[in-house]
Amino acid sequence: MLFILPFFVYSQDSKTYKIKTVVIDAGHGGKDPGAVGKNAKEKDLTLALALKTGGYIEKYIPDVKVIYTRKTDVFVELHKRAEIANKNNADLFISIHVNASNNTSAYGTDSWVMGLHKNQANLEVAKLENKVISVEENYHTQYKGMSAESEQAIIIHTLTQSANLESSATLAALVQNQFKTRVGRKDRGVNSAPFLVLWKTTMPSILIESGFISNLEEEKFLMTENGQDLMSSAIYRAFKDYKQYIESKTIFGIDTIAIQQAEKEDELLKHLEDSLNKIKEESFSDKNTITYSIQIASSKNKINLEPNNFKGLENISFYKQNGLIKYISGKELTFEDIKKQLASVKTLYPEAFIIALKNGKRINLQEAKIQTN
Ligand SMILES: [Zn+2]
Repeated sequence: MLFILPFFVYSQDSKTYKIKTVVIDAGHGGKDPGAVGKNAKEKDLTLALALKTGGYIEKYIPDVKVIYTRKTDVFVELHKRAEIANKNNADLFISIHVNASNNTSAYGTDSWVMGLHKNQANLEVAKLENKVISVEENYHTQYKGMSAESEQAIIIHTLTQSANLESSATLAALVQNQFKTRVGRKDRGVNSAPFLVLWKTTMPSILIESGFISNLEEEKFLMTENGQDLMSSAIYRAFKDYKQYIESKTIFGIDTIAIQQAEKEDELLKHLEDSLNKIKEESFSDKNTITYSIQIASSKNKINLEPNNFKGLENISFYKQNGLIKYISGKELTFEDIKKQLASVKTLYPEAFIIALKNGKRINLQEAKIQTN
């Protein structure tokens, strides 16, 4: 997926830049159902995903204020959605949608930033999302000079918003990466097209197409509680990574030139992963970081941690729970990484199991998995 970013000088100079407010926009609503599938309407799926995504952010990153453009089945005009974000000085705008195609076998997710379309297919997606304005009142004056075909206006927008565009593309790539690696969705990439809902936002903003309602299987998946949980926790984790990345680079001074010059989505992603790994390495020393280990034994009295006492296993540590000392093997930042070690530990300790720790205390494994990558 070719993705050319314009070259520009990064303008975020504040050393203490923090993401404080995010606007979550559930696409469509009220008299505008969005795309309609065999069993579901886009407006209902987007609302469920938006509320769950916002819910995760509120629960796990309580210092971030979440604003919803709608929390119920009501109609909100496209320009009002951007206005809500602008008026609240939001740091980020995330619009959640579900795609549709005449080709019922089309499936997968894509994430979009505002810009010129690269081909007709991209323009069609934007047209589909933009067409709601025909049922808005006064749309001729509200969207004056902004037609999907007005290339000049789009170029001007892209130039004035170029600093935001880099951030938008970063978030979009992180969302796609989460969908692909953690939820197993088909990755249709990061693209740009002229979406009216993104037009007037003055902060980094993306539009997510979380699957095709016109594809029976994907529609079914997006209708299930589990599917919605998986998709929205993926968006949440992408947001968390984005926040960590944006805030860290003002502290660690992470080199952004590579991102600015990245020509392909996977190059952008590679650089982001390197940066995030650097941040995560640092966070190993932070006691609030969630880590995963394999619990192998417990005792009332402290056993010396040398390998001889643990069937030769190295890297043993412990935590305390209910007056007992619990011994654990390994320490990783992701569930996937610790899982790779489980089989070999089980040959020595058949009852061994994976646990998650935060701040020296055991926490619920499912809760931990929602939060970590
Ligand atoms: Zn939509």
